[in-house]
Amino acid sequence: MNGEPIRQIVIVGGGTAGWMSAAALSKLVPAGVAVTLVESDAIGTVGVGEATIPPIRNFNGLLGIDEADFLRATKGSIKLGIEFVDWTREGHRYSHPFGEFGFDIEGVKFHHYWRKLVESGQASGIEDYNLCAVAMRQNRYTPPVADPGDARSRLNYAYHFDAGLYARYLRAYAEARGVKRVEGKILDVALNGETGFIESVALEGDRHVTGDLWLDCSGFRGLLIAGALKTGWESWKHWLQCDSAMAVPCAASGAEITPYTRSTAHEAGWQWRIPLQHRIGNGYVYSSADITDDAARETLLSNLDGEPLRDPFIIRFEAGRRSEIWAKNCVSLGLASGFIEPLESTSIHFIQTGVSKLLALFPDRGFSPVERDEYNRLSILQLEQVRDFVILHYHANQRRTGDLWRRTREMAIPETLQRKLDLFRGHGRFFRYEDELFAESSWVAVMLGQEVTPQGWDRLADALDPADIANKLDRIRAAFARATQAMPAHHLWLAQHAAATPDMKVPA
Ligand SMILES: Cc1cc2nc3c(=O)[nH]c(=O)nc-3n(C[C@H](O)[C@H](O)[C@H](O)COP(=O)(O)OP(=O)(O)OC[C@H]3O[C@@H](n4cnc5c(N)ncnc54)[C@H](O)[C@@H]3O)c2cc1C
Repeated sequence: MNGEPIRQIVIVGGGTAGWMSAAALSKLVPAGVAVTLVESDAIGTVGVGEATIPPIRNFNGLLGIDEADFLRATKGSIKLGIEFVDWTREGHRYSHPFGEFGFDIEGVKFHHYWRKLVESGQASGIEDYNLCAVAMRQNRYTPPVADPGDARSRLNYAYHFDAGLYARYLRAYAEARGVKRVEGKILDVALNGETGFIESVALEGDRHVTGDLWLDCSGFRGLLIAGALKTGWESWKHWLQCDSAMAVPCAASGAEITPYTRSTAHEAGWQWRIPLQHRIGNGYVYSSADITDDAARETLLSNLDGEPLRDPFIIRFEAGRRSEIWAKNCVSLGLASGFIEPLESTSIHFIQTGVSKLLALFPDRGFSPVERDEYNRLSILQLEQVRDFVILHYHANQRRTGDLWRRTREMAIPETLQRKLDLFRGHGRFFRYEDELFAESSWVAVMLGQEVTPQGWDRLADALDPADIANKLDRIRAAFARATQAMPAHHLWLAQHAAATPDMKVPA
């Protein structure tokens, strides 16, 4: 159904979701669409020291943001993956690197050859065949190159950054391109009596803002999508049982900056460690049914690299999603749309894909249900696929301490995840459905890391001479070790290319 074009978009909220949306939608301003963002300085944003996944580079790239400028402004660092400590069991560690494992041979995925050679003792740990994992171990980084014959083409990376500074950076970008910012607390939302669509919001000081299309970026409270439109909530807390986070930044203990996020399992949850140029972000994500806030604070503070830079603060949440992410004339983004704990750093990515989908399905004032339904279908599918990936980390654990770990090991899991686990346990098979976010290499990294070991391998891997395969694997491992040795230490690379402060000089 055709209607009049959208003329006014109103974004409610100025956290990461609000300003990412504003920056992307500012491209519509020259096309005659007014974009207004309403935020309240009196209501804080959630942003803690944050980690991302590689597609963020596409988002920044589409906006035309210069990487060095962005890293400087957000005091950011490079992320090659996540190191998981004590997750599989106490004393164990593995990594989920961003790059792929080895190279596919004759159209067969690398991990099948690896699995076959492990059986005959001719292969070392899988991480030796992943350039990001090798570089992570040595705290080194260099940008990837395009030449597929060069080992460095196997690198893939994302960023750690200060989310508050990123929002500020995008605000400057969006305002320079015509986005109007209105400061003030929203007190009321007016709906059309017939259609139930949002018409306007009332701000303190007797001000009103009207709009055609509304983006709810108001955080966990979901001011429009839940508060005004009463969209329901599907809870996933029976699978993802952590409901609290205690966060605190601390000083770094030395010059080195690890080019990865670390996640360390504790008795009632896990602790993140996100290194930035000027500090380290830390937080304990825990289940309040299993530990008191005081005990969580103590655990967090006793596992820091350096002096805490403020008092720890608590954030409460519930894993789940809105029953409709887009309802009536309102699209929810960021925490307003749903939440999966930050274990795989996916929330900012959902904002990015949410805005992209909105642009791809941009409605007119007729608000056809066809576009809305497709948006909801795609958003929900993506959330559920990532939810399953995060559940895998909890479910496949052999930890001895902590009731949370016993419960999550024994719980019934979604059928979609069970199918993936069964296929992988059999012959290391994996299928990526409908453009799912995490690729095969990510699932393989976490499955193998958590000791979900395939009993067999793809029969096609038997078609090649085993001595030939062993030789190929040796050469890949050696090439990755050599390439890593030639990389600069990550902190030196940062100091040279994207130092946040003038005093951050390259040490002699
Ligand atoms: C513990 C924790 C750790 C996380 N770590 C990561 C991570 O490592 N990587 C990652 O990708 N994501 C992470 N996330 C998720 C990430 O923080 C969010 O996706 C991101 O910050 C977006 O938040 P937001 O903009 O949706 O909401 P918020 O940051 O809460 O912003 C809400 C905005 O709405 C405004 N607002 C609210 N009510 C009103 C009102 N009545 N009137 C006017 N304005 C109003 C506020 O002023 C504010 O500007 C984490 C989340 C949590 C809880």
